[in-house]
Amino acid sequence: CCEGAASYDREEAVNQTIERAKEILTRYDGPHCRIMEVCGTHTHEIFRQGIRRILPRQIELISGPGCPVCVTPVGYIDEAIWLALEKGATVCTFGDLVRVPGTEASLQTARGEGAAVKVVYTPLDAERYAAEHPDEEVVFLSVGFETTTPSACLAVRKAQQDGIRNFSLLTANKTMPGAYEAMKDSTDLFLYPGHVHAITGTGICEKLAEEGVSGVCAGFTASELLTALAVAVTRYQEGKPFFVNCYPRVVRPDGSPKAQSLVAAMMEPCDEEWRGIGIIPDSGMKLKESCQMYDARTRFQVPEMAGRANPACRCGQVLKGELLPTQCRVFGKACTPEHPVGACMVSSEGACSAWYLYGQNL
Ligand code: SF4
Repeated sequence: CCEGAASYDREEAVNQTIERAKEILTRYDGPHCRIMEVCGTHTHEIFRQGIRRILPRQIELISGPGCPVCVTPVGYIDEAIWLALEKGATVCTFGDLVRVPGTEASLQTARGEGAAVKVVYTPLDAERYAAEHPDEEVVFLSVGFETTTPSACLAVRKAQQDGIRNFSLLTANKTMPGAYEAMKDSTDLFLYPGHVHAITGTGICEKLAEEGVSGVCAGFTASELLTALAVAVTRYQEGKPFFVNCYPRVVRPDGSPKAQSLVAAMMEPCDEEWRGIGIIPDSGMKLKESCQMYDARTRFQVPEMAGRANPACRCGQVLKGELLPTQCRVFGKACTPEHPVGACMVSSEGACSAWYLYGQNL
């Protein structure tokens, strides 16, 4: 009975927070404020929870580069297809990546030409598959931000411990600080991705605030998102740069030291290409020399592949917040989730797929 009362009180407190935040947002009449949803999950949740519908015109939400599948460059898909078709490797990947277009084909279409492409849920699944199939060369497509990079390192560590030699990573791991730096002039403030900062901590956000770049770190529930947006616009009106951690139950100032040291032991920064954006210095992570035998590029001498996106696709501008997905000429016509022309329409975190799924309800 006490537990029931406590849960009722908690629910009541959450409802009150939601109402208060909605009131602040709907009554906002301060200066125009562009807020970049860095993270694709935020974009989808904000749509799904109907938050866009209650915002006044002065609060503008723009998409950002925080969907790992969307920013994976065309050339990377070409490399994965080359490994599968030319080297006969079994390519293990998260499901979203299978339909992302490369220059001429996607992994899905390459399957029709004999490519072995296997969908896994974690990098450790791929390592286990390699252990169970010693006669196959298994390459895991390692994409993602600070949140997923530690699990790729864990898989390599497990392979080292298990003495597995037929497993490697094709890395396209990315880090957010370089993206913040590249995007900071496109927005008035960042809605920072809570899961990334649960790993990295908040030092980078605080440093950016000192340099004049504002932002709030946000969770993913309706109450957490509404609160973060309400805090953001309230502080924005004060006219001074700020950073507020609105997700303190998960994000600690120093993040996850354990995850950080695992990655630091096995990987090092490198320049990295972001789809539609170009190369951002030091924004990627690659395996260190000591782990080279688990690096697919070294192991298979993968040739450099520039990759060519479909010229109609405007993913780059969408990912920089310069265009709404609906302003792309092929949105909803030639480009749909069933027949995607660009990565932003494929991914479950992509801005174009969010607008396609929910945009008509605005
Ligand atoms: Fe690219 Fe399709 Fe989005 Fe246009 S609608 S930007 S083609 S993903």
